[in-house]
Amino acid sequence: MYDFAIVGSGVSGGRIAFELTAAGAKCLLVEAGRAFDRHSYPPGELGYSTQMFWNGGLEISRDARLGFLRGKCLGGTSVVNQADLNRFDARAWDDWRGRSGIGFFQCAVMDPIYDDLRRQVVADEIPPQFYNRNARLFVEAFERRGYHWAPILRSQDNCHLDKGSDCIVCLGGCPRDAKQSTLVTLLPKARAAGLEIETEFEIDHLDDAGDHVRLAGRQRGHERQLQARRVVLAAGALGNTAILFRSREIAATLPALGSSFCCHPQFMTYGVHREPVNAHKGALQSVESHDERFREAGIKLENVFAPPIATAMLLPSRGAAHYQQMRKYRHIACVEVAIRDEPVGRIALDRRGKLVVDKPLTALDHQKVRHGLDIAFDLHTAAGAIDTIRCEQVFGLHLMGGCPIGTDPRTSVVGPDFHVHGRPNLLVADSSVFPTAPGINPSFTIMALSLRASRQWLTH
Ligand SMILES: Cc1cc2nc3c(=O)[nH]c(=O)nc-3n(C[C@H](O)[C@H](O)[C@H](O)COP(=O)(O)OP(=O)(O)OC[C@H]3O[C@@H](n4cnc5c(N)ncnc54)[C@H](O)[C@@H]3O)c2cc1C
Repeated sequence: MYDFAIVGSGVSGGRIAFELTAAGAKCLLVEAGRAFDRHSYPPGELGYSTQMFWNGGLEISRDARLGFLRGKCLGGTSVVNQADLNRFDARAWDDWRGRSGIGFFQCAVMDPIYDDLRRQVVADEIPPQFYNRNARLFVEAFERRGYHWAPILRSQDNCHLDKGSDCIVCLGGCPRDAKQSTLVTLLPKARAAGLEIETEFEIDHLDDAGDHVRLAGRQRGHERQLQARRVVLAAGALGNTAILFRSREIAATLPALGSSFCCHPQFMTYGVHREPVNAHKGALQSVESHDERFREAGIKLENVFAPPIATAMLLPSRGAAHYQQMRKYRHIACVEVAIRDEPVGRIALDRRGKLVVDKPLTALDHQKVRHGLDIAFDLHTAAGAIDTIRCEQVFGLHLMGGCPIGTDPRTSVVGPDFHVHGRPNLLVADSSVFPTAPGINPSFTIMALSLRASRQWLTH
């Protein structure tokens, strides 16, 4: 029997599989998506969106106001994300400590874990000579208005920007293996140390048998069952919550299951320029806001862009007007506004077992959106845009919560030891445990929680 079965191979699952296997545990990793690599990533935006993301590229909230993106492939969302690494600050930890009652959520305890990871994870800033025009306009506008900005630390090796690489293609898997996804970093090392990996295997539900856990699911159309002494759920906010809801006996003991869902809703704003901006060329993302006034207000501004199909979906126009707007693709600069949303979302299953996500924006969220958009449009003006466009479709890329961590089993699902309450053999340390939205990119903290949890599980 396996010591650990790990469900999900993304930021958390990859790290945990590596730590546990390297320490000598017999581990199996189960992943619902397919195994691609740089030679087999589906070509083109339509190809990768439909084959490497859940639900053919897009999931939506019950009221269809928010779209959600999450990777479905070996390596999970770490293969298709933008690889920005950010530490939580004291404001984020204080909020988590207050909400969860967990004392180790503080810089003094978590910073050494980030430091440890930083020694292992290859990451760098984009050198200023490789900022594309979209990034340069962002910086110029920030400086004209007296706001602070900073280069982004990105988990990537050598992107070959000097050879003219366009890193927007990496949103469908990096063809140069420069992005440090778990697919190219931790999973090969873990496999060499003995990790077994099964792909295209979607776990449906679990049964807790006391001294072991049974996992049931489907692999390439066939029903399959497995057993392991302990199961690590690393299937993300939506994945973990759905598996636990379908495990009815377990779900019945977890009153907070599905609660605290949040996603940093992102609002794209465009400034149209007379001269080409070519935001899709070169480094996709180089800089971000780094201003205490924005942090206090719960907003973050990012320098980013989207490929053509996503842009077509984001634009508010139809028919001939839409065609005219798309013709300006090369002339568009982008400022994205992300808000630190209140964790009032709920994940549930409907009668047919389909995921339903209720994610209303609160009055405070709307106030943050208005504030952020006012700043973004003023920045476009400062950068010399001749026109501006506000996108209609709103996205959540950082899916968090559903199994919030905390000391009180009435309001949380996972305890400070990263065990599901009352279930010592069911372990979780991924994005589903987030009790609130930090307002900061989550991956580096998911890695830190997963590292801390792995070390705890190996000793208990
Ligand atoms: C386009 C995009 C850009 C992003 N950019 C950044 C960024 O720059 N910086 C940052 O910090 N964050 C970023 N994020 C968010 C970040 O990638 C996620 O928060 C993070 O990957 C979550 O880690 P995780 O381990 O919880 O889940 P994931 O990495 O999503 O991994 C979960 C895995 O579980 C698998 N799974 C789900 N259900 C099942 C099941 N039933 N059976 C078997 N397997 C299952 C999934 O297929 C997936 O592979 C981005 C996200 C997106 C979509």
